[in-house]
Amino acid sequence: MVLDEWLGQRMDETKEAGLYRRLRTMNTAPLPERLIDGQRQIVFSSNNYLGLANDQRLVDAAKKAMDEFGVGSSGSRLTTGHTDWHQKLEKKIARFKQMEAALLFSSGFLANVGVLSSLPEAGDVILSDQFNHASIIDGCRLSKAKTVVYKHIDMNDLEGKLRQTISYRRRFIVTDGVFSMDGTIAPLDKIIHIAKQYDACVIVDDAHATGVLGENGRGTSEYFGVYPDVVIGTLSKAVGTEGGFVAGSKVLIDFLLNHARTFIFQTAMPPSICAASYAALERMEESTEKRQRLFSNIKKVKNGLVEMGYMVKGDQTPIIPVIIGDPREAVMFAEKLQANGIYAPAIRPPTVPNGESRIRLTVTSAHDSKEIDYLLECFHFIGKELNMIG
Ligand code: PMP
Repeated sequence: MVLDEWLGQRMDETKEAGLYRRLRTMNTAPLPERLIDGQRQIVFSSNNYLGLANDQRLVDAAKKAMDEFGVGSSGSRLTTGHTDWHQKLEKKIARFKQMEAALLFSSGFLANVGVLSSLPEAGDVILSDQFNHASIIDGCRLSKAKTVVYKHIDMNDLEGKLRQTISYRRRFIVTDGVFSMDGTIAPLDKIIHIAKQYDACVIVDDAHATGVLGENGRGTSEYFGVYPDVVIGTLSKAVGTEGGFVAGSKVLIDFLLNHARTFIFQTAMPPSICAASYAALERMEESTEKRQRLFSNIKKVKNGLVEMGYMVKGDQTPIIPVIIGDPREAVMFAEKLQANGIYAPAIRPPTVPNGESRIRLTVTSAHDSKEIDYLLECFHFIGKELNMIG
């Protein structure tokens, strides 16, 4: 009882600060238009950037593998969970990322935590971008190395901090490829250039760039034409499935297989999801049409919002943050969008800095021009109604 009293107080504080969160139930398949809590909504907040999450070829691949291998993987990879499908998918990911080898984790979150808690050791230093994903932050917290945070994509600050930490045994720089809340692209070419001067190793979390950036969707590395030491990714966004991975040299993968606790002590991904992910990568390799459509949609939404006078952050990525400022106003804006059939939740502290609450829109290749026009129309009249635009 006493616990409920404590928690009740904390939740009252959370509500007063405008930071209360609750679940919403998706009642239909992950198409742009779906039923959410029984209401028809056009979703502008999904990570299904290429619309592959309900693609028939992926669904068929998963069903076939499920018929052969069953539902669960039945064990960790090092015991009984490693199947032909895990092996095939790892080879495919390595080829797609143009690295020697790859290793699957159950999620991108666990891949980040696994790498950061095992690679950097006591006496080492991790230089981490201020806006890195929560899983990088948690991985750094679990590491025995010291973590030093540098200002978001500020190369002067990064270099200054590398200079200050030169006495550490080894240096690791870790960055998101595309930042999840700001839609900015990390300048990986510059980061790698600086890293070389200070003998530092570069780790990039390409969660939002995989399948999106670069001529063939290989990610930030392809976009800049560079190779970081460690590429981490997720299958849960453009690939449309679930799971995480690390790609790099053979010895890196062998090291992680032996030392990353989130690999060793977790149950392997279901083989059916590996098969669906394999089909997704095949589809990406076959055609760039979906990605071209994605970028044309991104351009249309960004230009439309900027023309209306909204403060829109980020580079040309599917993540389009529209800054509102106050958390309550951001929630009000999201509620008005939802009342008009647009689903794009407000993002508030602690996920983003104070004063930067926002509507975080994401655009996919599956949105059609009518849906995009309607989104812009809603931003126009809600912005006017709330005196946010002129
Ligand atoms: N890294 C980044 C940048 C992310 O945005 C996310 C997902 N929100 C993750 C890692 C975690 O990936 P997963 O959902 O596969 O755990």
